Amino acid sequence: MSRRAADRTGRGLVDERRAPDVLPRSRAGLGGSPLESGAYVMPVELRRGGLHLSGTALWLDAHRKAPLAFVSHAHSDHIARHERVIATRATLRLMTHRLGALPSSLPVPYNRPFELGALCLELLPAGHILGSAQLRVIRSDGKRVTYTGDLNLESSQTAESAQVAECDTLVLESTFGHPRYRFPPKSEVLGAIEAFARTTLERGATPVFLGYSLGKSQEVIRALTSGGHCVVAHASVCAVAEVYRSLGVEVGAVRRFDGTWLPGEVGVFPPHVWKFERLLRPWPRRTAVLTGWAVDPGTARRYGADEAFPLSDHADFEGLLSYARATGASEVLTHHGFAEELAGALRDRGIEARPLGTVRQLDLFG
Ligand SMILES: [Zn+2]
Repeated sequence: MSRRAADRTGRGLVDERRAPDVLPRSRAGLGGSPLESGAYVMPVELRRGGLHLSGTALWLDAHRKAPLAFVSHAHSDHIARHERVIATRATLRLMTHRLGALPSSLPVPYNRPFELGALCLELLPAGHILGSAQLRVIRSDGKRVTYTGDLNLESSQTAESAQVAECDTLVLESTFGHPRYRFPPKSEVLGAIEAFARTTLERGATPVFLGYSLGKSQEVIRALTSGGHCVVAHASVCAVAEVYRSLGVEVGAVRRFDGTWLPGEVGVFPPHVWKFERLLRPWPRRTAVLTGWAVDPGTARRYGADEAFPLSDHADFEGLLSYARATGASEVLTHHGFAEELAGALRDRGIEARPLGTVRQLDLFG
């Protein structure tokens, strides 16, 4: 399909700045069946700019500027200033916070299917951070393709709970798609985090948690303030917390860090900021990094922390396997992280699976 055809159909949709219930079929061209030739075509291709839905104009979490892109969530490795963006309202709000005003965007509610050319699209919660979404596409040949983006199956106080997106082909993130990544229940991890804060304060030291400014920080602030702690956080964390509040999600009271530490406070900082603000660190202190990579030995040391807790906003290995089964997909394409290992594990369990790409990336937001 020509770029011009894609522009014609895509622009009409996105410029409406709302989720249309139905778009005219006459705008067909975005979703022409890639199976018309009879040859097998990968439902999703890994291109230089990111993932692309075959036979359409739609990019999935493209990391380079694209004419039309679905953005699953607002973490920096999933966003770019696309010409037109399809995402949830919360993701668009968080993208604007990070990138400034977007040229053209279409806020789409969860569970509200809409037509895009010959395709039917639906966003479902992914449970990863506030506003995160999976995309389920029903193609003109009736085949249902789900792209998960980053996925977390454990419930969170600061994100929508993930839903199972039943489908025929599942494009599944595999950040922690290796058997060694098995996370304890989140309630247990949050309990250990709270105990770390309490015992550190009892010993007369300041506890500081290191977590990424979008998602992880808000979740731990909510848990700490619910447990009666006073929290001080880096300005970037406070700014995202303010966006969460504006979207109706209560994060808890948090003081913006101004270079001072008050008695009894618990700190929350992004790891990269903490690394460079040496002069502002309290003493005595104990630090803990919050990441799924905590399962790996030596994680605390790698982050320059005293402890590491496996508070993850991604599903673990077993979670990914059970999710793939629950969707009923007959074909799974794995991407990102341990794609080959997860595809192999799925094949061992009788599900046709293959990795989309062989480049191994470590997700910084794990
Ligand atoms: Zn993410």
